[in-house]
Amino acid sequence: AAFESLTSRLQSVFGKLRGKGKVTEDDVNEAMREVRLALLEADVNFKVVKDFIARVKERAIGQEVVKSFTPGMVIIDIVNKELTELMGGTQAKLAKAAKPPTVIMMAGLQGAGKTTASAKLALMLQKGGHKPLLAACDIYRPAAIKQLQVLGGQIGVPVFSLGDKVNPVDIARQALQHAKDEGRDYLIIDTAGRLHIDEALMEELRQIHEAVKPDEVLLVVDAMIGQEAVNVAQSFHEQLELTGIVLTKLDGDTRGGAAISVKAVTGCPIKFVGMGEKIEPLEPFHPDRMASRILGMGDMLSLIEKAQAAIDAEKAAEMERKMRAAEFTFEDFLEQMAQVRKLGPLDQLLEMLPGMGKLKQLKDIQIDERQLARVEAIVKSMTTEEKRNPEILNHSRRKRIAAGSGTTVADVNRLIKQFDDMRRMMKQFSTMMGPKGPKGGKG
Ligand code: GDP
Repeated sequence: AAFESLTSRLQSVFGKLRGKGKVTEDDVNEAMREVRLALLEADVNFKVVKDFIARVKERAIGQEVVKSFTPGMVIIDIVNKELTELMGGTQAKLAKAAKPPTVIMMAGLQGAGKTTASAKLALMLQKGGHKPLLAACDIYRPAAIKQLQVLGGQIGVPVFSLGDKVNPVDIARQALQHAKDEGRDYLIIDTAGRLHIDEALMEELRQIHEAVKPDEVLLVVDAMIGQEAVNVAQSFHEQLELTGIVLTKLDGDTRGGAAISVKAVTGCPIKFVGMGEKIEPLEPFHPDRMASRILGMGDMLSLIEKAQAAIDAEKAAEMERKMRAAEFTFEDFLEQMAQVRKLGPLDQLLEMLPGMGKLKQLKDIQIDERQLARVEAIVKSMTTEEKRNPEILNHSRRKRIAAGSGTTVADVNRLIKQFDDMRRMMKQFSTMMGPKGPKGGKG
C-alpha cells in the first residue's frame, strides 16, 4: 500500500525514541538522521528533506522535547505538525467564480488520470448540489472523447463535445457559452495530454486558458512516478500558472515522495487526491490527515493531543501503572471500565486508535451500571490467582465462576474475551506511550 515502507521506518525511529526515558540532543540527532534517510528513500526531494529536518531539529532541541515528560510523543507531534505544514498546512479549497460558471481546466500528461479525475470532480460537485458540465477537449488521444462521454453517462453529468475535428480552443470557448446558456455552475475542461511535455501542448493549453480564463487550473499527476511527478508539476507550473494539483493513484504502491514534496517544490497546493479507478467523488486533500496517515497514526495524534491537554503528570503516572499490560488484572479491568466511562463514549475513543479494526468487538462493551455490576460480580467470584492469571481460566473454573456470580458461562466467556481485547488495547497504548509511559513526577 501507499507509504507502507516510509510509515514503518518512521514508526521504528519513533519506537526507539519512546523506548528512552530521557531524550538527549544526541538521541534527537540520531532519530533525525534516520527520518532523513527514510524520507529520501521515499523519494522526497532532497532539498525539501534538508529543510524539513532542520526545522524539526530546531523545534525538538529547543527545549520542547528534552523537558517533556513524554519526549517520544512530543517528537511525533513536532514531525506531524511540520509534515502537515510541508504539505500546505490547511486544506486548499476549490476556487469559486463570483459569477458562475466556475471554470476548471484540467491538465496533465497522458495516463496521469486526467479524464478519470475530471469525471470524479464532476461527481463530487454534483453530489454537493451543483450542476457541472464536462467538456471534451482532448481531440488527439483516440477514444478520449468517448471515454469522457461514457463516464459522464455513468454519473449523469452532461458532456459537451464537438468531435475531434474542431480546434480544442474553439471547443472550450463554445463549452463555456453552452454552460452559461444551460445554467451549469461549473465547467470542467478535459484537455489533451501528451506522453511528454512539449511546446505544442503548452501552446494549446495557454490558448485554451486565454479563451476561457479559468478560475482553476488543476494539474493531474500520477503519484506513482514519485519525484518525476514533482518535476512535471514544476514545468507545468512555470508555463501555465497552476492553481492546484490533483494527485492520482494514491491507492497504489507509491512511496510518498510526490505527496510530500510537490507543494514545497512548486508552491502549488495539492487540492485533491485520486484513490482508485472507480468513479467516486474526488477526495479533497487534507494535509493534516495525510501526515497522520504517513506517520501511521490514524487519529492517534488527536488522541495524543487530547491526552496531553487533559492529563497532568501525576495522573499520567497513575495511568502508566494501569496501562502496563503485564500488570493489568481483572481488578484493573473493573476500574478501567469505570474510568473509560468517564472519558466519554468508548467507541469514539476506540476509533482514534490505530489498528482498531481487529478490536471492533470492543465496541460491544456496553458500559452501563447494570453491566458493571455484573462484571463486578463475575470478577469477585474469581480467586486472586485467577484475577492475576486469566490464562488459567479453564472450562470448569468458568462454570464455577458463573454459578458463583449468578451469571452464565457465556457471560463469563464474553467478559474474558473483552478482558483479553482490552489488555491488547492497553498494550498498544503503552507502546505508544513508551515502556515507562508518560514520565510522571515519580518517574
Ligand atoms: P488520462 O490519459 O490522464 O486522461 O488518464 P485516464 O483518466 O484515462 O487514466 C489512465 C489510467 O489510470 C486508467 O486506466 C485509469 O483507470 C487509471 N487511473 C486513473 N486514476 C486512478 C487512480 O486514482 N488510481 C488508480 N489505481 N488508477 C487510476
